[in-house]
Amino acid sequence: MRPFLVAGNWKMNGSRESIARLVNEILQGLEVTANTQVLVCPPYVYLADTARLLKGSTVILGAQDVCAEDNGAYTGEISGAMLQDFDCRYVVVGHSERRSLYAEDDRLVARKFMAAQKASLIPILCVGETLEERERGTTHAVIMRQLKAVSDVAGIAAFGRAAVAYEPVWAIGTGKTATPEQAQEVHELMRGCIRAGDARIADAIRLIYGGSVKAANAAELFRMPDIDGGLVGGASLEAREFLAICKAAA
Ligand code: PEP
Repeated sequence: MRPFLVAGNWKMNGSRESIARLVNEILQGLEVTANTQVLVCPPYVYLADTARLLKGSTVILGAQDVCAEDNGAYTGEISGAMLQDFDCRYVVVGHSERRSLYAEDDRLVARKFMAAQKASLIPILCVGETLEERERGTTHAVIMRQLKAVSDVAGIAAFGRAAVAYEPVWAIGTGKTATPEQAQEVHELMRGCIRAGDARIADAIRLIYGGSVKAANAAELFRMPDIDGGLVGGASLEAREFLAICKAAA
């Protein structure tokens, strides 16, 4: 059985003090279950503190982004090897905020995906359509294009060491969640797309949903057959809410 993955994306929020408090509250309240993995992705500058606090716990550390290059003159960037230095195991690539605010296209996202794997990190590839794309009826085409951009260059086997997050752009940080049926439809499409390349990988890969997940809607989303967890933004900044979401996954 695929273990559920509940990932907290803290984006550019918090302070050194508030992040430490949040990590401690999560550690104190988390009920460890065998079938759920909990991951937190703090801002880069708080990775070292968070890694120290998480040591010896079951909570996994991840980062929110990675540079596509290995090292060199890339001012302001952070490489996969650097993230490894701080005990990161996962990294988010292709988050819609990176795609829209920092003009990251499918090609760059694919390179980041491969850079993460080269550094032995597990990429969480984010895909998702805008409201306009959904209304135009192109959701499936957009998701397929975003997946194919990675499988074309990395190969389908690369999905054996990755997770994919379906995050409809219109649901991120808006309070508007996809219905369980809308989310399931896209998750099923993604699993089918991966299955066409490799059935074993399709059965094993975690496909997680993101977009205004909260304690009140997590259980109904997580009940869907192809949803294997959540990528949680706003609600992961409050320990009690995030813990309730983790409990819904268990
Ligand atoms: C996200 O940041 O990936 C996200 C899904 O945010 P939110 O849960 O706040 O919609």
